[in-house]
Amino acid sequence: MVQFLLKLLGARAQPDMKITFWGTRGSIAAPGTDTLIYGGNTTCLEVTTASGRTIVIDAGSGVRQLGDSLLAKGEPLDIYLLMTHIHWDHVMGFPFFGPIFHSTTRITVAGSSRGIEGLRHVFNNKYMDGTWPISFKDLKAHIEHIDHPIQGPLEIDGTEIRSNRLQHPQGGMGFRFTERSGAFVFLTDNELMEKGWVGASFKDFAAFSRDADLLVHDCQYVPEEMDMRHGWGHSDLAAVARLAMEANVKRLMLFHHDPWRKDDQVTAMVERCKEIFDKAGAAVEVDGAREGSTICV
Ligand SMILES: [Zn+2]
Ligand SMILES: [Zn+2]
Repeated sequence: MVQFLLKLLGARAQPDMKITFWGTRGSIAAPGTDTLIYGGNTTCLEVTTASGRTIVIDAGSGVRQLGDSLLAKGEPLDIYLLMTHIHWDHVMGFPFFGPIFHSTTRITVAGSSRGIEGLRHVFNNKYMDGTWPISFKDLKAHIEHIDHPIQGPLEIDGTEIRSNRLQHPQGGMGFRFTERSGAFVFLTDNELMEKGWVGASFKDFAAFSRDADLLVHDCQYVPEEMDMRHGWGHSDLAAVARLAMEANVKRLMLFHHDPWRKDDQVTAMVERCKEIFDKAGAAVEVDGAREGSTICV
């Protein structure tokens, strides 16, 4: 109705920020009949800003199909690639990201300070040991690295991107995107704990996620599994639900699904979160992140 009225008045509504999930799985790709609903590819998101700029988050196996989708537009690409960290499941798709083989592609890598090193390594160590026939220097795309977030928040065409350290073995970065239309927070490979690293305790993440329209958070485990998994750098649904409530987020998407978790089990985790919110009287919308789905913020 609002959109209709704005149209009538000749005014242009503020475009939304669009977030598309190309990979939602954690640790290793898990294709098959058990993962058709939530998807089997590892971490890769496409954020399209209100200005139309493409920002890719991570180059897990989902980045292959994103590459095809970007190339299908038939235009030179000038995109950002924000790296949370360089664990294998977040870089494994990069050699299959089609745009890197085109000289008309420009990629600015930011996020984790080791991001560019990890992407280079995927090619070079495998080239050197004879298990992959292409080295990083053979790529046709122009790929550069900028020191975000060391130099402060990143500003891309009016979209502000702030970063926060993750509680994860070997470190990592989470991101908060803010536009006039809303705020989106992405925290994966993150273990919520009261006393984490400096700047990465539960209260730090609650402040970082404060009033977000959408929070996408690592939810690899159920609470009963945590005894054996403390220190692995991933969260359970009870901790994630508590964060969503304390940060007063509107919408929560469970992410980084365990590769052994079948679709019905992810759905059961979503239901358990709903019960927690209902019991607390919290108005948080929740679902499991689904490969191929798009959310507007
Ligand atoms: Zn991961
Ligand atoms: Zn990781």
